[in-house]
Amino acid sequence: MKNLIEIKTDDDFIIDLMYAGTENMMQTNVYERVGLGNRCFVQQDMFIKLEALRPKLREKGLKLKIKDAYRPPLAHEMMLKIIPMEGFFARTPERSQHCHGSAIDCVLCTRDGKELKFPCQVDAYEKKYAEQIARGEWAEFQQHLKKASYNWQNSTMEELANRGLQKELMESVGFKSLEHEWWHFNLPDKEKYPMVEFRINHNQIEFY
Ligand SMILES: [Zn+2]
Repeated sequence: MKNLIEIKTDDDFIIDLMYAGTENMMQTNVYERVGLGNRCFVQQDMFIKLEALRPKLREKGLKLKIKDAYRPPLAHEMMLKIIPMEGFFARTPERSQHCHGSAIDCVLCTRDGKELKFPCQVDAYEKKYAEQIARGEWAEFQQHLKKASYNWQNSTMEELANRGLQKELMESVGFKSLEHEWWHFNLPDKEKYPMVEFRINHNQIEFY
């Protein structure tokens, strides 16, 4: 399916794509540069799962902040050039489920939009590591990135509980989690979703 559906900020979801702004490991707004901006597009099957998540979020008094969703393949190519670190971004757009519209990165928030505490930020982002990476120094960040894994236990009870709660909520509506990134969730049967190309035509976003 190449007709992606847009999710907008509402009572349950906050759209805050990290690559639309500059607070990310690249310190640059790649999604603005390719024309996507802070717009969240997903496969229809993901839209259905997110709809199923709404009552569960409300029951817990939470919202879901979406930090990444569909990623234009051109944006992925740019990101690889800026951070060529092995194991951070998928090696090709084809390999990234984000370029297929079948993955989201997210973090649970309170109803007033405050992010819950997790073992690290989404993408393990911290400005000091982004600055090191810009200088070509990966070593400290690679250590820090271990906190992204579900195997990481050296955190507060609260952080580990929030990580577990998010995984449980997302899996309860059929998402697949990724062992080395607590913020990333895929649709199952990923081979069902081809890579989706993106272009701007008369100021309109088109997928093909
Ligand atoms: Zn992701």
